[in-house]
Amino acid sequence: MGGTAFRPQGVPGTVTRVYGRFMTEKIWAHSGDSHFLEPDDLWHQILPKNEADRMPRTERISDHEERVTVDGKSFTRELPKIMTAKGATGETIEQMSHRPPGARDVRLRLRDLDEEGIWGEVVYQSIGLWSSLIEDPQLIREAARAENEWLASEIQGVAPDRLVCAALMPMLDVGDAVAELQHAAEVGLHLVSLPTGNPPGTKDWNDDSWEPLWAAAEEAGMVVGFHIGTDGGDQSTIYRGPGGAILNYVHTCYGGQHAAMKLVTGGALDRHPGLKVLVSEGGATWVPFIGDRMNEAYRQHGMFVRPRLSTLPKEILYRQVYASFQHDESAPAALWAMGYQNVMFGSDYPHLEGTFGHTQKTLHELFDDVTPAVRQRITRGAFEELFPHVSAPPA
Ligand code: MN
Repeated sequence: MGGTAFRPQGVPGTVTRVYGRFMTEKIWAHSGDSHFLEPDDLWHQILPKNEADRMPRTERISDHEERVTVDGKSFTRELPKIMTAKGATGETIEQMSHRPPGARDVRLRLRDLDEEGIWGEVVYQSIGLWSSLIEDPQLIREAARAENEWLASEIQGVAPDRLVCAALMPMLDVGDAVAELQHAAEVGLHLVSLPTGNPPGTKDWNDDSWEPLWAAAEEAGMVVGFHIGTDGGDQSTIYRGPGGAILNYVHTCYGGQHAAMKLVTGGALDRHPGLKVLVSEGGATWVPFIGDRMNEAYRQHGMFVRPRLSTLPKEILYRQVYASFQHDESAPAALWAMGYQNVMFGSDYPHLEGTFGHTQKTLHELFDDVTPAVRQRITRGAFEELFPHVSAPPA
């Protein structure tokens, strides 16, 4: 992960080790990608039993597999391998995908974050992400309302200047979605979580049927968050055979790219210049690449393009789409070498893909060799632009 290897010598913007901080100096960053592991009985705490019984749940069925059950449908998925890590409280813990000490306990979570050097963070659900598989509009409408009130008071409410909880959204009906977005804003949430793949029976994200939702999000100042790996169903085993683990892992990031492209090309972001989108956990260097390809299509295939946009698609993508990454050594260059300003760090706490246990090491590897302005923008500036209410880290 040493960040210097891929950098051509003499490129403006890289001055190796001149800007470098000492490894002992703590770098504080906000995170555009984190998760909370809900209590096992959450749905039964906040919903009537007949509804709670139909909500997503997971159970371990072997060392390496779990079963996900949602409203009568179920499938099995592979779990990451067991690793060990040291928690903030000093004990050695078993780190499955969700096991740092603060994964389930929001007060312990803040200790983990302080130790790692993460200040503000976008907090997505874990089990709740499977709610996009629900096909009953009433069930998801009532679950979203209850969950968002619980998130606002029980999780975000513990540290409202640091935690930005992602609202669960009822996406089977656009009217329900608009109503819940407004409700989520009223209870103090700042971001709505949408799945990268459209829920069953709904139109694609570039379809005009979603227009009332984009208008409502802009009006309420609500960020639209797409976390990768939410295309629908189990994406952990799309590929099998040689290379399968890596193929499947990389595959999960494409849905976020598609969702962002649809909001640009369908005109939603052009019609709503105040609407901001965050693609979490999907890296950042895809943005310049996708932007270039969209511009080429817009110019060279202009006779087929509709709607026409007020400016080039890459400009809209750069302006309104933010992208979080965790380890990608090429991500800072999307900013300093390719002009994409909305690159954002994300720790993916408490997941195995994330930086828990080595966040400071990762931050130093990423940022010791870039200018202070680049580091500031990626660790803090882009996040604070989306969530200006979040307080500043300790000096
Ligand atoms: Mn994540």
